[in-house]
Amino acid sequence: MAQRPSFENLEASLLYCPQCRKAMPVRKKLLLILPEGNKFEYLCTTCLSTCGEKIEQDEQKPRILM
Ligand SMILES: [Zn+2]
Repeated sequence: MAQRPSFENLEASLLYCPQCRKAMPVRKKLLLILPEGNKFEYLCTTCLSTCGEKIEQDEQKPRILM
């Protein structure tokens, strides 16, 4: 499972919004940083409802060497 998100900025530009009741342009917002990845939330740009969320695994974690 080594998928590289190469089109991160293009994905999920339209999502179904339960409030607007149609597919709406969404904004990706970083919600939480979890050990298993970064949790993003997709917000409708019109009504700011949450249209979806996803956890993106960060495969390029910077290594901290001390
Ligand atoms: Zn909406």
